[in-house]
Amino acid sequence: MSKMSDVPDVLVIGGGIVGLSIAYGAARHGAHVAVLDESELDTDPARDTSSLIWLQGKAAGPAAQARWRRESARQWSNFDRALCADAGTAPLLHQPGGFFFCFSDEDLHRRAELMQSLQDSLDGDYPFEMLDHHALKARLPDIGPEVVGASFTPMDGQVDPVRLLRALHECCERRGVTIHQDQHVGSIRQVQGMFQLRTATNVWRARKIVLAAGLDNRRLAAHVGLLMPVFRQRGGRVLISQPIAPFLPYPTNTVRQLQDGSICFGDAVEDAGLASASLDSMGEMVLQGLRTFPHLGRVHLKHSWQAPRVGAPDGSPVWQASQRCPGAFVVTGESSVTLAAAHAMRLAPWIVDWTQSDALESTLADAVLDAATPGLGAPDKQPLLMLDRSDQTAFPVLP
Ligand SMILES: Cc1cc2nc3c(=O)[nH]c(=O)nc-3n(C[C@H](O)[C@H](O)[C@H](O)COP(=O)(O)OP(=O)(O)OC[C@H]3O[C@@H](n4cnc5c(N)ncnc54)[C@H](O)[C@@H]3O)c2cc1C
Repeated sequence: MSKMSDVPDVLVIGGGIVGLSIAYGAARHGAHVAVLDESELDTDPARDTSSLIWLQGKAAGPAAQARWRRESARQWSNFDRALCADAGTAPLLHQPGGFFFCFSDEDLHRRAELMQSLQDSLDGDYPFEMLDHHALKARLPDIGPEVVGASFTPMDGQVDPVRLLRALHECCERRGVTIHQDQHVGSIRQVQGMFQLRTATNVWRARKIVLAAGLDNRRLAAHVGLLMPVFRQRGGRVLISQPIAPFLPYPTNTVRQLQDGSICFGDAVEDAGLASASLDSMGEMVLQGLRTFPHLGRVHLKHSWQAPRVGAPDGSPVWQASQRCPGAFVVTGESSVTLAAAHAMRLAPWIVDWTQSDALESTLADAVLDAATPGLGAPDKQPLLMLDRSDQTAFPVLP
C-alpha cells in the first residue's frame, strides 16, 4: 500500500466482530476501508453457540454505556436487515426478549432493584418486567419449582456468532473493504497527519485508524498515546447438548436453545451478574440449567467451548479517541455482539465524518473509564488512575 491512491480513509486493525462491524459501517457510509488481521477469519464451528444481545446486566454501569447498549439493541433489526440485503442471507437476529432467572427471594429483590436503577439511569426509557414464579410459569411452563422469579426485557435477543462473523466478512467484501490477513501490526506512528503501520511485510498508511485488536489493543494503544485498560478476563464457557424438541424460544441467563434444537448451558450470557458469579465449573453450569428446567436432565451433552474474554476490569467496553494522534480510535468490547449494531450504524459513520475540528468535550469515553475504577482485580495490578485523562477525546453521546 505505498501508492496514495491505495491509502484507505479508514484502516481497521483486527478482523473480529468489533473490527468488522466498524469496517462494514464505515464502508456503508461511503468510506474506502481496509482491515489488517494477523490471522485467518475465526469461524471454528465449536463456537457455533449463541451470542446474546443482552441488556440485563451492567445495570450499575455508567448511563452513557447503558445508552449505547440500548441504542445497539434498537439498531440491531436495521443492522440485520442491512447484513441480509448485502450478504443475501437469511436473518441472523432472533429478538423476542430475554429472561434472567432468580433462585431466591433475595436474588429476585436485588434483581428488581438493579433493573429499576438501570431504568432510572435511562430516564425511564428501559422497558422491563419482574415476574414471580406463577407469572413466569404462565410464559415458560417448563420452569422448575426452584425458580423464584425472573426479570424480563423485550430488548434482549440472540444471534449465532459464527454466522454473524461470516456475514460481516461477506458484507465487508461486497462493500469494497479489503481484508488483509497474516498482517500482524507491530508498530504505529503518525507523521504529518498520516499513520504508518508496520507489519512484517508491509508499511500501511491511512489518515484514520481504528484499533480493534482485542487484547493487543492494550499494546497498540500506547503507540497512539493512550492507555487501554483491557485484560484477559475469566474465560467464558458453554456446554452444548444433542438437539431436543423446541421448548425455549427466549434467551436466558442459564440456558438457551439453539436453532438446531441443541441446548447451550453456561455463561455465554455476558454480564450475567448474580447467577453466573458462582458458575465456577462445568458441573455447576449444568446444575443451574437443571434447576431452571428439570426436564433437561435427560439431554446428552455433545461438546464444550471455552474462550477468554477481553475487557476492562469491570467488564465494560472501552472506547477512546487519541488527542495526541488525532484520527486514531480504539474500541475494545466484551459485549461486541450486543454492541455490533451501534458500532456499525452509529460509531463507524461518526468516525468517518470526524474531523480534527470536532468538539472534544463530549463524555462517553470518560464515563466508560470512570467505571473502570482501580482495585477491581486487574491481573497485573496496573493502577488505572495512570490514565492520562487529558489524552482522551470522546465518542458521540447518544440522546
Ligand atoms: C464464551 C463467550 C461468550 C460470549 N458471549 C457474548 C454474548 O453473548 N454477547 C456479546 O455481546 N458478547 C459475548 N462475548 C464477547 C464477545 O464475543 C467479544 O466481545 C468478542 O469476541 C471480542 O471481539 P473483538 O473483535 O474485540 O476481539 P477478537 O475477536 O479477539 O478480535 C481481535 C482480532 O484482532 C486480531 N489482532 C490482534 N492483534 C493484532 C495485531 N497486532 N495486528 C493485526 N491483527 C491483530 C486478531 O487476530 C483478531 O482477529 C462472549 C465471549 C466469550 C468468550
